Amino acid sequence: MSGRYDAIIIGAGHNGLVGAAVLARKGKKVLVLEARDHVGGMLGDASFRVAPLPYALRPEIARMLQLDQKRLHGAKPVETLAFGSDGPPLRIIGGQVTGTDAITEHDYAILHARLGRQARALGVMMLQSPPGLGKASLGEMAGLAKMALKMRLLGKTEMRDLLRIILSNAWDLLNDEIGDGPLAGALAMDATLGGAMGPRSPGTVLTLLYRMASQSSHGHGLRVMPEGGPDALVKALSDCVTSAGGEIRTGVAVEKILVDQDRAAGVRLQSGEEIAAPLVLSNASPKTTLLTLLGVEHLDGEFIRRCRNMASKGMVSRLDFDIAQMPSLRSGGKIEQGQRLVFAPTMQAIEASFNAAKYGDLPERPVFEATYDTTAKRLCVTAQFTPHDLKGGWTDDAKSALASSVMAALEEALPGLSSAVTASRVMSPVDIETGYGASGGHWHHGELRVDQLLMLRPFDGAAQYRMPVKGLYLCGAGAHPGGDISGAPGFNAARAALRDGGH
Ligand SMILES: Cc1cc2nc3c(=O)[nH]c(=O)nc-3n(C[C@H](O)[C@H](O)[C@H](O)COP(=O)(O)OP(=O)(O)OC[C@H]3O[C@@H](n4cnc5c(N)ncnc54)[C@H](O)[C@@H]3O)c2cc1C
Repeated sequence: MSGRYDAIIIGAGHNGLVGAAVLARKGKKVLVLEARDHVGGMLGDASFRVAPLPYALRPEIARMLQLDQKRLHGAKPVETLAFGSDGPPLRIIGGQVTGTDAITEHDYAILHARLGRQARALGVMMLQSPPGLGKASLGEMAGLAKMALKMRLLGKTEMRDLLRIILSNAWDLLNDEIGDGPLAGALAMDATLGGAMGPRSPGTVLTLLYRMASQSSHGHGLRVMPEGGPDALVKALSDCVTSAGGEIRTGVAVEKILVDQDRAAGVRLQSGEEIAAPLVLSNASPKTTLLTLLGVEHLDGEFIRRCRNMASKGMVSRLDFDIAQMPSLRSGGKIEQGQRLVFAPTMQAIEASFNAAKYGDLPERPVFEATYDTTAKRLCVTAQFTPHDLKGGWTDDAKSALASSVMAALEEALPGLSSAVTASRVMSPVDIETGYGASGGHWHHGELRVDQLLMLRPFDGAAQYRMPVKGLYLCGAGAHPGGDISGAPGFNAARAALRDGGH
């Protein structure tokens, strides 16, 4: 065995880095092992990033890790441009929308403020270990009590409203409050992006509140991008690990988690090298960690069944278009750096895309969000409802068909765009699965839905970060509270390990 560490972190995704930083700052000798040749996981590097819009980092984590607050959260809020079927896009910043009628502007501001308050109350649980089913510790009960108190503080009417809508669907809520159109489309995208649910699916108000919880944590319901973008965030996180004495090795894939007398004992790399540590945190997805890296020989039959049955088929593809010269919008004006462009003209359009994907087909008119990097001259598109299990598979033809339908929608808003494309690239959920060890290529490493949330995340019996083999913890998006670039699962998992004594 080479070296000896207090803790090994498998994967240098942003959650792995956050977990490593928390442990290293508590004096643990930490080693992070990353299969790819760069750190950051899906945040990637300048050549390619799966997640181009990292505005969900919890400010509490940034504070705790003493990341440069000003650099990470001092940048200007993200503006969303919501494109309808014609006319200029609506412009949305937090609870303000322009480009629609005065009544909708007013109704939206009220709805946004109300959902923001409710999201803040639920958001308390984001940095808490979920309570165990049947046996909850004092700390876990305190977390629940804090959330209950926050909900109580909403007042009777609003608390009742929250309990009424929380498990219902975004379609009904948004239709009632603002009617269908590009504004509802943009909100319904937030409710469904990354998951296998359409706006009519039950539980999509909860997933909308999940997204809003990270925005609300900035105080005004704003999305705020780190200054310097994803690169600055990745660098700040990896510097945080190394400045606390942690080591990071890239280009080294873990092949096996070593177990000695029912305890985690370290890892074996694909090269055959073995490294000892009594504590192993895995940033890989739950299925990869448990079924591949740990191995079923260490798990009981029922646990294996639940793990295999966990829903984790990804629905999202990434497309990059290199652009020689970005044309102007049909409605006038230019796309600016950091803007989020949402192409979901109605909730109806989102539901129709979902219907196709449910049966393994690509939608005729995909719904997607995009952002334009003015320095790299690259348009990064995140296309929803492109199923992992595509009928006929992810052939080159299927990828071209997806790129063409996305480009057709873009061309309507940006005439001349298609002839300005110099190169393009499509990464399907299958490519994401292969490239990042995330089962199903799933955004959250496992579907974020009512039966895979809180004490049921990633699945019943595997919640609270601790795995059946002592000393082994899940610290990635598959664990509570789920994906997005929040850092919360990494933070919570490291704290759970420290509470257990750190070994
Ligand atoms: C198409 C798409 C677009 C997205 N866009 C956004 C966005 O704009 N904003 C946002 O907030 N979220 C976005 N997300 C979601 C976000 O990317 C994920 O939720 C987040 O990256 C999860 O972070 P993580 O650290 O848990 O895991 P990951 O980022 O998946 O990192 C896991 C790391 O573990 C490594 N690893 C796995 N197995 C091994 C092994 N055996 N040995 C060593 N290393 C290993 C992987 O290489 C990887 O680096 C997007 C997701 C997808 C699929």
